[in-house]
Parts: sequence; structure tokens; C-alpha cells
Amino acid sequence: MPLDLHVFRTLSDNAGALLHDPATGACAAVDVPDAGEMLAAAKARGWTISDVFVTHAHHDHTQGVAALKQATGATVAGPADARTMAPLDRVVGEGDSVTLADERFEIWHTPGHSDGHLSYVGLGSKIALVGDVVFVMGCGRVQPGQMGRMWTSLSRIMALPGDVRLVTGHDYTLANARFARSVDPANAALAARFAEAERARAEGRFWALTTVAEEQATNPFFRAGDPALAAAVHLAGKPADQVFAALREAKNRF
Ligand SMILES: [Zn+2]
Repeated sequence: MPLDLHVFRTLSDNAGALLHDPATGACAAVDVPDAGEMLAAAKARGWTISDVFVTHAHHDHTQGVAALKQATGATVAGPADARTMAPLDRVVGEGDSVTLADERFEIWHTPGHSDGHLSYVGLGSKIALVGDVVFVMGCGRVQPGQMGRMWTSLSRIMALPGDVRLVTGHDYTLANARFARSVDPANAALAARFAEAERARAEGRFWALTTVAEEQATNPFFRAGDPALAAAVHLAGKPADQVFAALREAKNRF
């Protein structure tokens, strides 16, 4: 039976995400920016949180884990470098997997935004929890000297099947769309999505859920191999990893 997925605003722009298996009642919180808001979101659906999957150590993703674990007794999995931030029952890394009911999530080490960053990739459920690696029409900030690792991380996610849903860590969608348009002005799919991002903002709709195919069509960081984008950052003919790094630096200044 497919997993239920609920993605909602928590704190100011963080994504709260809950995965729920209707057959067994198992329910996983993806990071815990705020324990009270996460518990309220689960309660509103009649779900009981049994697991927490931590993507990375940053405080806005981990600061609610201890309180949530105390309230629910949930089992917490996450990367080793989150141990000082959150009470982990299980340290996981590349090659490991976690399960929620019958659904298995492969653990991928996807560094660049943070050293220990993990993505949880459900090939059966076609849901990938990508934290702050990918955002709608954007990508996470990159630690100094880590552009190459970030590009490798992003490239792995880009190669997933197009219908895999990506649960991202923040709604930076409209700001990302503005930057994307500035470097990729002739992209019709992007223009349509930019308009949708403006509507979402006007209506107060939270938007942090996307698909691999939608990002392949509109995300400039996914499209770093496209000649038009290379030209936009004055790197015509250069390899995609260099174009990616130049795009990321241009976004930092945007
Ligand atoms: Zn982060």
C-alpha cells in the first residue's frame, strides 16, 4: 500500500514532513524543526509518530528531535555528525537502509551542504527525502570548498527516475524561481512554474515538494549541462560541474 505523505510549513520556511503507512500505522517524521508543530500535524491526521529520519545536523532540522522522542518514544536514525544535536538510536550512512513498514529507504551520503548530509531514497515508494541538497528550482548552500561534492550529490539525485517525489527541506521556491529565470529566461516550463510560484506565495501555499522530472525541466542546477546556462555564466563549452559551481556562486550574490 502506498505511503501517505504530508508536507507542511514549520518554523518560518522549513518543511515539516510525515510519512505514514496506512496498513500498519507506522509514521516517520522527516527531521524535526519544531516538536510541537510536528506532533500537532500528526495528531490532526490521527497518526502516531514511530520513527524520525534525520537528514542533517543543522539546528533547524534537529532542534525538535529530543522533545519529539521524549513525547512519542520514536526511534531516531541519522548521520553520525548529528549525534551532538539529536538523540540518535541508530547512526546510518551510505549503503545502509531504514524501513517504514514494508517500505525500504536506501541511505545515500549526499555531502556538500553539510559534511554528514544524508538522503533517504525510497525506490519502491518513489519518495526521496533530500533535505537541503535540492530545493524546488534550487539547491542548498554549499560549504566552502565543497562544490565538487555537492555536484556529485546533486547528480545522484538528478539520475533518479523522473516520477520520484523529492521532499525538500525548505520553501525557498519563489526566490529560487526568480534566480532561475534570470539565468534561463527562454525556458517555457520555468516561466510557467515561476507564475505558479507567485500564485503559491500570494495564496500562502507552502511549496517544498517536487519531482525529479519537474526539476530536470526547470532547476538551473539540475540543468548545468545545458549550453544556454553555461553561456549565462560565461562558461560556454565548459563541463557541467564548473557551470554548477558558477551558478551556485551567482545565486549567492543574487
Ligand atoms: Zn541545512
